[in-house]
Amino acid sequence: MMRLRSLFCLLTVLVLLGTCGFAWAEADEIVEDIWVDPDDELAEAVEKATPVVEAEEVFTPSHGSAYTDGQGSAYWNTPMDISDEEAVWNMLMEPITVVDLGKIKGKSKSQLTKLQTYLYQEPDEKSKIIGEVSNLSQGLRVIETLDNGWSLVECYSSSFFSKPATKTKAWNLLVSGYIPTKYLKQVEPTKRLALVVDKLAQRLYVFQEGKMIATLLCSTGLVQWNGSKYQPYNETRSGEFLLINMTGQLTSDKLICAYAIRFNGGDEVHEVPHQKNKDGSHNYKTTEPKLGTKCSHGCIRVQRLKTPEGINMAWIYNLVNSEKLCGKVKVVIWEDWQGRQLPEPDPETVLYYNPNGGSYYHREDHCTNGKGITFTPFTYSQLDEAPYSKLQACPNCVPERRLQDIQAVNEVYAEGGDHEELLNTLRQDYWDYLNKD
Ligand SMILES: [Zn+2]
Repeated sequence: MMRLRSLFCLLTVLVLLGTCGFAWAEADEIVEDIWVDPDDELAEAVEKATPVVEAEEVFTPSHGSAYTDGQGSAYWNTPMDISDEEAVWNMLMEPITVVDLGKIKGKSKSQLTKLQTYLYQEPDEKSKIIGEVSNLSQGLRVIETLDNGWSLVECYSSSFFSKPATKTKAWNLLVSGYIPTKYLKQVEPTKRLALVVDKLAQRLYVFQEGKMIATLLCSTGLVQWNGSKYQPYNETRSGEFLLINMTGQLTSDKLICAYAIRFNGGDEVHEVPHQKNKDGSHNYKTTEPKLGTKCSHGCIRVQRLKTPEGINMAWIYNLVNSEKLCGKVKVVIWEDWQGRQLPEPDPETVLYYNPNGGSYYHREDHCTNGKGITFTPFTYSQLDEAPYSKLQACPNCVPERRLQDIQAVNEVYAEGGDHEELLNTLRQDYWDYLNKD
């Protein structure tokens, strides 16, 4: 408490001197509260509180929402911070509100999971469509339930291709709109498995029975120019979802995606794609090195190599399949909002390597990628020194990135920048549509 007050005192001094570029609206409010402090404490505060480090902004999935009163399920209001295992687990175990359009004549169960419906600007199906939601899988933040049969909800729009299926081009935008309340249904997620995908970290975190049991490399969608057209719909849609369909295997651009499970109208979690060699073996050479960076068409590509705990995409698929968990597993996707930053690891974090010719640095001394080898420990702070500077991060046990790689990501996502410049340009059509009468 004293430290906080000291900081406020310092802000007061800076306000009076007029020498600093803080957000003055906030500082002024603080001034009124604390100006009664004695002078000696003020002097002490100036001495102790230099340099001033502003508290990091806490990002939640509802960042930037107009509805800030804390309503809605835990996903929307829980900070995107994987280091808080308990808070993340509690969030994962909250019931999820999804759309259920019910049985539709001529549609199979699998076809129903591919349907999408609309959010409207007013509680009226004739009003403007402002976003899209995937049936049976996509979680909605219910802001208000009206007594006229409609609810005001919020989510990241599941807009896919621009034509012909989709009426809006709100690609992965956080939108709020109205939907008939009769379509909303709550589902209790299973404790046996829950997944968190962080688009900033490009990591998939595996949870089971209250614990985070693995960190896997992943790749989410990359907005790009592909020969003749832009593909803004490649951006993986954020939100909370239920794994909804055991696709098994799919092929895309000659790439074979194994262990695929769909989680909305069109996006799947699947193993990093492979091509087939002449002898029938799997070739991951072009795709595996890209894990940990955006590069898919919207699906989430997941690590194939096993962690020391024995976990990979095949493990996830087999668990969902054998325990019949499809429809009950929550997958949460954290948006990489501009301004979010990757935390820098503790310099004392212990890493491992094989001094006899090893080319990787490891998170675990019992890594699957070094069976029978005795590893030698060192610390993260030594990583840029010989003989560790040439080592690569182990693709099995997924240790922390090198500091310069973390800083490179953070530079792209620094406050005030725009890592989605192309996507935002392509969203202009949507803004124009919204503003048109
Ligand atoms: Zn390893």
